[in-house]
Order: sequence, then C-alpha cells, then structure tokens
Amino acid sequence: MGKRILILGAGVGGIVSSNIFAKSIMKEHEVVLIDKNDTHIFRASYPYIMINVRKPHQIRAEISSLQKMGVKFVQAEVLGLDLSNLLVETDIGSFTYDYLIIALGAEEHSEKVPGLIETAFNLCDYESVLDLSQVLERFEQGHIITFISELPVIGTVAPYEIVFLLDSFFRRRKQRQNIELTLITPEEIPLQNSNPKVSNSIAADLKKRGINLLVNSQVVSLDPRANSIELQDGSIIVADIFIAIPPQQGPAVLKNSSLELDEGWVKVDPHTLKTNLENVYAVGDITAIRMPSNRDWAPKLGVFAHYQAEVVARNIALELAGKKPMFRYRGKAAGFVMATDISLGRIGSFDYFAIERPKVTLLRPTRLGHWVKMAFEKYWLTRWF
Ligand SMILES: Cc1cc2nc3c(=O)[nH]c(=O)nc-3n(C[C@H](O)[C@H](O)[C@H](O)COP(=O)(O)OP(=O)(O)OC[C@H]3O[C@@H](n4cnc5c(N)ncnc54)[C@H](O)[C@@H]3O)c2cc1C
Repeated sequence: MGKRILILGAGVGGIVSSNIFAKSIMKEHEVVLIDKNDTHIFRASYPYIMINVRKPHQIRAEISSLQKMGVKFVQAEVLGLDLSNLLVETDIGSFTYDYLIIALGAEEHSEKVPGLIETAFNLCDYESVLDLSQVLERFEQGHIITFISELPVIGTVAPYEIVFLLDSFFRRRKQRQNIELTLITPEEIPLQNSNPKVSNSIAADLKKRGINLLVNSQVVSLDPRANSIELQDGSIIVADIFIAIPPQQGPAVLKNSSLELDEGWVKVDPHTLKTNLENVYAVGDITAIRMPSNRDWAPKLGVFAHYQAEVVARNIALELAGKKPMFRYRGKAAGFVMATDISLGRIGSFDYFAIERPKVTLLRPTRLGHWVKMAFEKYWLTRWF
C-alpha cells in the first residue's frame, strides 16, 4: 500500500529530500512538501545581493516546479505538530503522514535584542538585505558595524564574508579610506569551532585589511536615536550602518509537540537523523547536533542540511523497498567556500564529528574558490528545481 511522506519546509533540507524521493521511490507512494512561501531563495548568495553583484532573479526558484517530478507542493504555514496523532496542523487544514521529515530551519528572534529591529539591517531577511544594498550604493563615508547576536550562528562563515565583501566593495569604489568596518562577535576567536590555524588566518586577514574585530563581545542593545550599539561590558559604539545576524532558535511549533528538544532544537540521532518518535526525522538548522569533541553546537550550514537530507531520504527509500537502511551521516563536507573578495574565495572542508576537535581546512583565497561558489549557486537552482 502507498505511503505518504510529508516534508515540512522547502529550504535546503526539504528540497534535497523531495528530489531524492522523486527519483528513488515507487509511484504508489506520495511525497507532499509544505512551505509557507512559494519561492525558494538561495541564502548563501545574500552577501552578493548586499553589494549588488547578484540580482534577485538570479538566486530564486519557484518551489512549485518540483511538481513536475511528482512532488505535491502545498503552500501553507505549519501551526502545530500533533505527532501522537500523526498530524501536522497548518493554516489550511491538517495533514497525516506515514513518514515525517521536519526541515523548518531556525526561527529568527530579532526582538530579543532591544533596538535591533529599528536600527539594524537583518542579514537573514531577504527584503532587509535588498534595502541594505540600496543604502550601500549611496554610502560614501562612515562606520559600518556587522554583528553576531548569539551563537549558534546560521551560516557560520556569513558574517566574515560580509565584512570581507564590504572591504572589497569599497576598495573597488576607491572609498575604502573613508569607511570604517567593524565585526563584533561573541566567539572567542573567528570561527571558534574550527582550528587555531584557520582562526588565526582569518584574524590576520581582517587585520591586514583594516577591519576591526571585537571578540568575546555580546551586543545587549541598539539605540536608533543615537545610532549606537551597547556591548555587555558597557561600552557604546556609534556607527552609521548596523548589519545584524539576529538571535535564532528552534521554531515555536516544536513546543508541545512531544519531540525531544535540546535548548529548543530537535534532538536527533546524529548519524540517522531519527527523532524520539517513530518515522519522524529532522534535518538541517532545526536539529540539535552537538560536536562530540566539545559539546558545542555543530555548525548550521546548508551543506550539512543537504547531506542530512540525503541520508534520511535514501534510508526511507530503502525501507519502502523492503531493504535495510544503510546510509549514515558523518558530519563531513568538502568543497565548501568562504567568499573573501568580490572575485576570490577560500575552498574548505569540515569534519565536525572528529573526536579530538572539529577538523576544518580553508585554502588560501583563489579565483577558483569564487567560481566554485558561483557555479554552486547555478547548480543548486537548476539541478534541484
Ligand atoms: C546570509 C546567509 C548566508 C549563508 N551562507 C551559507 C553558505 O555559504 N554555505 C552554506 O552551506 N550555508 C550558508 N548559510 C546557511 C544556510 O542557508 C542554512 O544552513 C540552510 O538554509 C538550512 O537549511 P534548512 O533546510 O535547515 O532550513 P531553511 O533553508 O532555512 O528552510 C526552512 C524552510 O522552512 C520554511 N518554514 C519555516 N517555518 C515554517 C512554517 N511554520 N510553516 C511553513 N514553512 C515554514 C521556510 O519558509 C523555509 O523555506 C547561510 C545563511 C545565511 C542567513
């Protein structure tokens, strides 16, 4: 008898798992994908949108295009999870399932930092990044502060990409001498869960390029009238533009869902992504995966959402075919790129299940790195839609 696989969220995890099901399971089974939006936007390209080197139409895809592969797309907002009755409640009604994959990502809570909404541009919000790109076009002199509000930070390397791309953008416009750039982070060192060599190389690069770095710094509030930011140690810094990576947490719909949570994120088996409930899986930013070496949060990146979704979808497909699930998620990713200039990028790799400490490599900035990043954007928006 046909089974229904219900996938919540058409971000990285939802899109990858939908595609794999479309290709690997019998037609008798039904794949239903739910998202509140009708468009998927490739967030890894937001930093390029910010400096106007990518245009909005280049980083978007219609989620409904998955219907041509046999995936049923439903545009609806998930409002609750009544999982003891195998029900997902949405604004257009309830959905049952035989298998459930929760890929709703992280939920942003800008209101947790007083003054953030009124004062700062939000790097995780598409419209806000577009507004910022307009302001930067006209900006000729002053101080720009980029800050990470809280850990874990979605996109891990994105704040560093932002300051490097701003530096590169203003250098090309020959205005860099009139612009002060600052990055504020609660991390002890840049990319604190990588390794000292990588962290030191980023810190050295920031210094060489004249970008101020404030580590161990928690932003407590912003003042829209004074155009200032207050840090936990009481210091106040005035600036002209603020760019925030706002606080993130597990979505509110998880509460009262009978899913086991860890500080609001969904607890999963780190190798199979199974939750505490039968036939319910979670993938991507919403998961509570901790690194074995130091119990810190594993990085929340699209590459990991992608690999996790592959493991879950392939194992469910095997189970539906009457075979034993055999795929395991290993916390590794290669070919990942951190942008360091409008035309340069550092190719890297992660292995965060390493026992002694997470292993991270980042090669020196190259044009190849940039082209890999650009090619991946194109690949993502054509291969998966
Ligand atoms: C600025 C920025 C730059 C980044 N750069 C990179 C990068 O270079 N490389 C990289 O690997 N990662 C990067 N990331 C991180 C990457 O975008 C995320 O890790 C990835 O998108 C997580 O995938 P996901 O499937 O878990 O969730 P998401 O991609 O966030 O998808 C969640 C989906 O669920 C939907 N949804 C949420 N709530 C509901 C609801 N209640 N009802 C219905 N639908 C809902 C949303 O609309 C969304 O489509 C970046 C992130 C940011 C913000």
